[in-house]
Amino acid sequence: MSSLYNRSAWFEGQGLWPHVPETEWRDWTWQLKNRLTTVEQMERHMTLTSEEKEGCRLSNHKLALAITPYFFNLIDRDDPDCPIRRQVIPRGEEMNVSQEEMLDSLGEDAHSPVPGLVHRYPDRVLFLVTDRCAAYCRYCTRSRLVSNAQDYNFHPEYEQALRYIEAHPEVRDVLLSGGDPLLLSDKKLDHLLGRLRAIPHVEFIRIGSRIPVFLPQRITPDLCEIFKKHGPVWMSIHVNHPRECTAELREACEKLAFAGVPLGNQSVLLRGVNDGVEVMKELVHRLLQMRVRPYYLYQMDLITGGSHFKVDVRKGLEIIRALRGYTTGYAVPQYVIDAPGGGGKVPINPEYVEKITDEEVVFRNYEGRRYHYPLASTPVPRTPSPADTPVVLPVELFQ
Ligand SMILES: *Cc1c(COP(=O)(O)O)cnc(C)c1O
Repeated sequence: MSSLYNRSAWFEGQGLWPHVPETEWRDWTWQLKNRLTTVEQMERHMTLTSEEKEGCRLSNHKLALAITPYFFNLIDRDDPDCPIRRQVIPRGEEMNVSQEEMLDSLGEDAHSPVPGLVHRYPDRVLFLVTDRCAAYCRYCTRSRLVSNAQDYNFHPEYEQALRYIEAHPEVRDVLLSGGDPLLLSDKKLDHLLGRLRAIPHVEFIRIGSRIPVFLPQRITPDLCEIFKKHGPVWMSIHVNHPRECTAELREACEKLAFAGVPLGNQSVLLRGVNDGVEVMKELVHRLLQMRVRPYYLYQMDLITGGSHFKVDVRKGLEIIRALRGYTTGYAVPQYVIDAPGGGGKVPINPEYVEKITDEEVVFRNYEGRRYHYPLASTPVPRTPSPADTPVVLPVELFQ
């Protein structure tokens, strides 16, 4: 097992950019400018499999290819099955499309009153503020619009979206997503958050972002000041594998937490990445140590070209069963399926309840032992007892 919070290879003078000065390496704009976006750039550093070369060749018609140097350095270049590599380097298999898969599997477009705004649940909206990311996850649930590889021509209409939220007092929760909202400039974020904060019925603001994982350098003191100013702003990050929990990510999470941003994590259950009890347990433990509460574990959406990532739901249930009771309750995420067609997130839970009658509920604990909890109770008349006399606590107790 690799040790906790290794600084990425760059800090050890290893990895692929050892000669880049620290000020540049830590500059998020340098990381963005130097992203790897072609087969040729990647092949300068590692040998790609033919499956990957095929994937890279085709990816620009599906979902752009881009990987930050920071994240690329986390790849084990000698391991064709490296779980980091699988998430960001395209494979030819992405072009295999099965019948059940859909471009807009969550029916988001049908629930959009304004371009870029999805109003599915009664009290909250999903506000897609950009179609760009720092790097692209090959199992992206919004690949139809993200990176514009499929000519979706996504244009978020901020003014229209804000007016919609202002006009709908039932919207108490706004979730900024995309694309990755933290790719917006400080100025734009400051403006957007300020506008949302000024709407009296918007109680809860949160951001879904993988930037802390792909580009931790983006979490600057200036950005944190913006979150402080408009807080509380909650954030869901997206970590899938314990190797993503580097010293840099830890530092980014710490800065966010100290700026008053409560942190959650959303993982996607992915074959060959995190579809095992041990790897998931290590991940959730590391997250807690970074002040991040595992929030959701997603069954992968039925996206086009995602079948090579698909994991059996029974495996997901086995993972949850192996966590609940065996580790800290805070470490256990809620396993969900986002219902195809737009039914929203539905919890998928291991079954602990065996029977409920008017008299009792019968259930098993995490070890499989059976317990009874009586529901009907027959009242017993109360007889006065010495315990009815109030006890006066000695005042010293409170000093
Ligand atoms: C996931 C999602 C939300 C937020 O759901 P929570 O369960 O509150 O985290 C809101 N709107 C849409 C369309 C979503 O997909």
